[in-house]
Amino acid sequence: LRSLLRDPGLLETRAYLAGEWADADNGATFEVTNPARGDVICTVPDLGRAETARAIGAAQVAQKDWAARTARERATILRRWYDLMMAHQDDLATILTAEMGKPLAEAKGEIAYGAAFIEWFAEEGKRIYGETIPGHQPDKRLMVIRQPVGVVGAITPWNFPNAMITRKAGPALAAGCAFISKPAAETPLSALALAVLADRAGLPKGLFSVIPGTDAAGIGQEFCENPLVRKITFTGSTNVGRILLRQAADQVKKCSMELGGNAPFIVFDDADLDEAVIGAIACKFRNNGQTCVCANRIYVQAGVYDAFAAKLAEAVAALKVGDGLQEGTDLGPLITDKAVQKVEEHLADATARGATILRGGRRHGNGGTFFEPTVVTGATQAMQFATEETFGPLAPLFKFDTVEDVIAMANDTIFGLASYFYARDLSRVYKVAEALEYGIVGVNTGIISTEVAPFGGVKQSGLGREGSRHGIEDYLEMKYICMSV
Ligand code: ADP
Repeated sequence: LRSLLRDPGLLETRAYLAGEWADADNGATFEVTNPARGDVICTVPDLGRAETARAIGAAQVAQKDWAARTARERATILRRWYDLMMAHQDDLATILTAEMGKPLAEAKGEIAYGAAFIEWFAEEGKRIYGETIPGHQPDKRLMVIRQPVGVVGAITPWNFPNAMITRKAGPALAAGCAFISKPAAETPLSALALAVLADRAGLPKGLFSVIPGTDAAGIGQEFCENPLVRKITFTGSTNVGRILLRQAADQVKKCSMELGGNAPFIVFDDADLDEAVIGAIACKFRNNGQTCVCANRIYVQAGVYDAFAAKLAEAVAALKVGDGLQEGTDLGPLITDKAVQKVEEHLADATARGATILRGGRRHGNGGTFFEPTVVTGATQAMQFATEETFGPLAPLFKFDTVEDVIAMANDTIFGLASYFYARDLSRVYKVAEALEYGIVGVNTGIISTEVAPFGGVKQSGLGREGSRHGIEDYLEMKYICMSV
């Protein structure tokens, strides 16, 4: 991997702890593997609670000074970090693809997307306005100011090893918080590369740490139990989100949670079918189906069901499966064998209950964790993928008759992150957009993520929003000042 990089210094294999490059106290390490080839890229230090506690202590000290600076000073350093990410976009993407598997073009896209959160929030940090309120008594003057929450502990998943960190670090640091990142054990290298650039950009020592480790539960407990940590921000499964919320309850810690989804993708009979197929491919197969906003259930109105299924199967047949580092690859491997097993389980359950495989349906000839992009017809609400995210390249097609039916089915889930539909009738577009119980609705598009818009879910998909002017709110406390004059 090192030989593929223009700047080999970006492949950092030590932890970034309180402003120093460090090994684990006990010298423990773990392996980082390339899911496309199964080979070990390198090892990184396996840190635990004790090192996490040290990072937290350093963060608390650094945060005071950072918060006392002007927003413009903070923005200047964050802007430099952003510029460095973009200057090293190709190398960061190569590292990301090597440890995670997504095609290089998608990885480059993720770096630009991830960096954009740093740029955006560097600017937003200057606009943390307060307010004045007309007094309730003649001698009273009322003010509201907003201040950083303090030290933030962040736990992120492997599917966006760069952007899931920057989406949190951007607003946190811009607001004046300190930030400790616990990346997924599958993908620590992208996080450490971010730390290399943070260091070069001049982020003060201790303000930002990256704690690679396999004891996620222990590090999570330290975040929840250490009183110096004031906020937990998490992206990952709803199950782990629940664990963290329970743990955080003891000290009533602020929490932001970006949890699982089970996105419906609805094609009405007045949709532009060709556009709907393009949208479905982008939405379902991006990152090989491993995003929390990927379409998980595709509902197609009866009149266009067969036509849509045929077009989708044809488009899926054109997708090229391979090593993400190779030119022309559309779909990389899945992250682990466990991920492949989940796809197989959902597929077996569906076919046992009467679904038909229209395309794909098996492990790919490349071996390892490659899987054929798959389309099944005859999906029903009784099947496992109706209630659970597949997180893989499996597109189940459900048939529906009326708007009311499909809204009921689409909303019949504990999740409420992203949803999508294709229709042209204006009145239908409005009504359906309002009726979907989701934090995000894509209308005639399958791609909705951007740093300028609020990303987040309702129901058990989470708490809080990331991106947009609202994203910085999660890292601020409101203080009301009542003055007698
Ligand atoms: P995924 O299925 O995407 O791996 P997880 O929710 O299991 O989703 O993982 C997301 C992140 O949460 C990872 O960084 C993982 O290490 C971490 N994690 C897993 N279990 C726990 C836990 N009990 N406490 C804190 N973090 C955890």
